[in-house]
Amino acid sequence: MDAAEKTSVDESQISPMFDVSRFHCRACLGALKPPTFTCEGGHLVCGTCLDDHAQVCTGADVYIACSDEHFIVRDANLPCFFSEFGCNSRSVTYKAAADHERACQWAPCYCPALGCEAFTSPARLVDHFRAAHAWPVTEVSHGKPSQLAMPPVGPLRDGVHVLVTKEEQSVFLVSASASPFGAATEVSLVCVRANGDPAPGVPQFKCRLWVESPRAGVDPASVTFPVESKDMSGWSVAAKHGSFLTVTPDLLRGASGDTPVLINVRIDRIGGGSSCCFY
Ligand SMILES: [Zn+2]
Ligand SMILES: [Zn+2]
Ligand SMILES: [Zn+2]
Ligand SMILES: [Zn+2]
Repeated sequence: MDAAEKTSVDESQISPMFDVSRFHCRACLGALKPPTFTCEGGHLVCGTCLDDHAQVCTGADVYIACSDEHFIVRDANLPCFFSEFGCNSRSVTYKAAADHERACQWAPCYCPALGCEAFTSPARLVDHFRAAHAWPVTEVSHGKPSQLAMPPVGPLRDGVHVLVTKEEQSVFLVSASASPFGAATEVSLVCVRANGDPAPGVPQFKCRLWVESPRAGVDPASVTFPVESKDMSGWSVAAKHGSFLTVTPDLLRGASGDTPVLINVRIDRIGGGSSCCFY
């Protein structure tokens, strides 16, 4: 066998099918983490779960290291569970699959427009927002202020401004609703993400929203808050969000009718590891 032939044999892969429960730990019920062991009762457990299993199984006095499962769970590569929504990660190892899916930015979310049933990854929703709803999309950078026209106040179909960060293509929606306490307008910002809970590789953000008065000597309205992540299921502009900017009519008095009200937005990344870990 010459060298070229040998290389092609070494690099070929097979995709066997197994019942996934075969690779679940009897104790923690999650994906087996090597090194793996079997008890005398034949139960497969993670190396870190031996003590837990011993409390419920009479066969757990003796454990045998099991090399077959060890190598499979250590070496097997799986496509991401969200590949149908655009994730092309093909090299997720079995034991890392749960961590990858917790951080995968292709996990699907809902289109929040009233009556719309689109359900796909945030990146594909951006194309949908543009094509199906004509919502404006603006590319922004971490730490750099951007100016947007105030979205129309009202139900979602009337307008939302979509922001996409250049750095890791995170998707944010800026929306405006009438304040329940009078004539003010509330502007909110949310991250469209199914798995935004703090976890390794999941970036977290804070944002600052502010509006300058057209008149000299009037303080701007300004607020800074940590950005919430939502899969947008059942979301509506009028629902109470964690934080929002209140823009009073007084602040805007003096603006001529045809001058659009501009909102300033700045999004900063506040944690979640380096962007190389964000799949
Ligand atoms: Zn376990
Ligand atoms: Zn057992
Ligand atoms: Zn993925
Ligand atoms: Zn839609």
